[in-house]
Amino acid sequence: MSRYRARPTLRLHIDWTRCDGRGLCTELLPTALDRDDWGYPLTRDGSREPEIPDRLEADARAAVRLCPRLALALRPNS
Ligand code: SF4
Repeated sequence: MSRYRARPTLRLHIDWTRCDGRGLCTELLPTALDRDDWGYPLTRDGSREPEIPDRLEADARAAVRLCPRLALALRPNS
């Protein structure tokens, strides 16, 4: 078995100027995002744009689509 693990192909960008902390994204992506006391997302890996594992891509796309403030975007993980 190969020990090589491909990097996730996507990162989640959060536009902090738009986010108003409703917390929907943290409910859809609980393994990637935590939430602070006010409902704003906190990335669990501490990065500004967390990597989205391929198995979470559908949930991440749902979060982007459903964010009420259009604050989320998926970007290539370059
Ligand atoms: S769903 Fe959108 S508005 Fe709500 S916390 Fe996440 S980024 Fe912010």
